[in-house]
Amino acid sequence: MLRLTLVTFALSGTLVAQTTLPALPSGGPHSESYRTALVELNEQLRAAAPPVSEREERECLSWMRAANPQAVRTLVGHRVIVLATDGFAKSAEASEFLRYADLGYCVLAHLWGVDPVARVGRRVVIWPDPAMERGHRCVGAELRVHVGRADWDNAQWFERYFHEFTHGFQVEHRAGHLMLGGFYEGWAEFMQAAVVEHLAPLNSSFEARSEHYASHLPAAAQREYLDTRLPIEEIVAYDPAAGLLMELVNSTAKSPRGPRDWGAIRALLQSPASADRATPWRLWPARMANDLSAAFGAERARPILARYRFPLDDASLAAARASTSSAETTPRRPAAARWSVLGPFPKRADDGLELDPFNAADLAWRWARTPDESVAPALDVERAGTWRSVAPDGNGNVPLASAEGEPAYFYLAATLPAELRTRLTLFIASDDDCAVWLDGELVHHFRGERGCTPSHPDVAYADATSSRGQLVALVANRNGASAFSLMAAVGGLLFEGFEQRSTAKLASERTAAVAYLGSRRHQQPVRALLERAARDSDSPLRREALTWSSAAKTGALREAEDAYFYGSVRGGYFGNNRGASGGQCVARNWGGDARNWLALPLVVAKPGAQRVSVRYATPYDGSLRVRVRSGDRVLFVSGALRLAPSGADWNSWKELDVTTGALEPGVVYVELFEPAGAPDIDWIALEAR
Ligand SMILES: [Zn+2]
Repeated sequence: MLRLTLVTFALSGTLVAQTTLPALPSGGPHSESYRTALVELNEQLRAAAPPVSEREERECLSWMRAANPQAVRTLVGHRVIVLATDGFAKSAEASEFLRYADLGYCVLAHLWGVDPVARVGRRVVIWPDPAMERGHRCVGAELRVHVGRADWDNAQWFERYFHEFTHGFQVEHRAGHLMLGGFYEGWAEFMQAAVVEHLAPLNSSFEARSEHYASHLPAAAQREYLDTRLPIEEIVAYDPAAGLLMELVNSTAKSPRGPRDWGAIRALLQSPASADRATPWRLWPARMANDLSAAFGAERARPILARYRFPLDDASLAAARASTSSAETTPRRPAAARWSVLGPFPKRADDGLELDPFNAADLAWRWARTPDESVAPALDVERAGTWRSVAPDGNGNVPLASAEGEPAYFYLAATLPAELRTRLTLFIASDDDCAVWLDGELVHHFRGERGCTPSHPDVAYADATSSRGQLVALVANRNGASAFSLMAAVGGLLFEGFEQRSTAKLASERTAAVAYLGSRRHQQPVRALLERAARDSDSPLRREALTWSSAAKTGALREAEDAYFYGSVRGGYFGNNRGASGGQCVARNWGGDARNWLALPLVVAKPGAQRVSVRYATPYDGSLRVRVRSGDRVLFVSGALRLAPSGADWNSWKELDVTTGALEPGVVYVELFEPAGAPDIDWIALEAR
């Protein structure tokens, strides 16, 4: 039966024609009522769609046609319009692209409970963008999907479009707080699985795809996230992040191949309880854990969330539930009464924290080893000038540059008062990038452009118990005004959360608490807790602590992939080659371009010549150069070093050694540059010869 109604309604002053389509019922893709409704919807979508509206023409099609002379065909669906090449149009006819695109949209509307086409006032427009070589991109706010040249004639890849449409549903969605970090793309990737399962009653190939995703996404999460040392805040986007959501849905099946229940996903996305409430950034993992537990039931969700290294202690969950403002409300005080400040020192626009002229990492390391009680690290006065003393205001704010500020580095140093020599929560704001060390060890690192807003700070932790309390901060100003603020509060959720979870009844809960600590990006605040756990009489706790600490980073070896966190790398991406230390390496064509580069700080422990070792994998003949730098001084630079093939593929590893001239103890940056042959890099080590 064909029931087709055209309604015209006013939106933003423009008349829009939209076919009214029935909503899918709530029983889920395996219920009889849903299947019947889906078959009927499919029939209705075969009817002719309303013609292109004046607004669709004006806002999209006319300028797109002008931009791409190959976009000669206009395919008009009920929710989707494709400005197509001839090749795409032919392919779309065979694949019934438009109807499946419309169906995909309807399933997304069913799951998300919103209708972006109604919001924007016109249909989703897909077009071949001449500015893109490959890939797909969705401008969610404007419902435009841009297609790269490589796929201009490809109308077979429905799932990629289900992913792109999802971005249109995410924009302004009230559950946006569930889509932070890697989960933004994670949800889009997960929706590929959700949509194919919801369309499976119409097409057996979708049935097979849905089974593929049910095992593929959790496997990707296992390999690319759970088998690595990444914290939840750094879960890898796309498939690994989608793996968590897939595991939760999989867990609703009563038998391994039994039907999955998607009701919790709909409830999560549509329940007023998970409506977006402003939450301080530091609480998003707890907020997400809280909402997923509510939707799936704590008994089902908690073991999965624990394995994915979410904070699950009562205090964190309660804080996430109680928050009503994104501003930080924890009582706190300036970490020091005075700061010693040095700078500005000119910076090239694109240079990051690792290229500062005086090597802040080294200054902090040396200061912590200086016997005297100086108020700031020693510096070459001729080159650097002398430290000036500045008192922060009540918000801990230290002004560094006015609105006319040029790109520059600033150094700050202070000593914690005696009453703050304990476990601390640090509240840090900076304009722009910054790094903070306590007694020479990094406790915070931020890269990005922003204003200094102490009301919305980064939150980090430090354990200043029996420390010298020596704080060093490096700030890199990208332009204009610059400032830095560091406030502190005694104790904090990281510490209290572990104390609570490490005594939980369930052994899996206790070990998850250790994994949560062990995966923290900065190990300074958790080291004492992990050491204590490694001596605990509870054997699951002890075993887990030893697993994490046995591979704990020392200053003499660095995982190459850490450079992605620090932003001190050009080219490639995480790889998960067999045998890679920490389950992860720098891969995916890093070194395929001679401009690729990588820099990491390493500690020279003993004076004299040093051996730099680089663990790499490549089936080809390759090469690279090694440079050792301290600030703006180059201490060693090699010629092109040959990388002999390490084996038949990128899963067998070899070490390259190079000897430097004599180096003084301290922190140096080891750089790999001018690579050839696309070697994957696992780690870099430095040791006295
Ligand atoms: Zn995407």
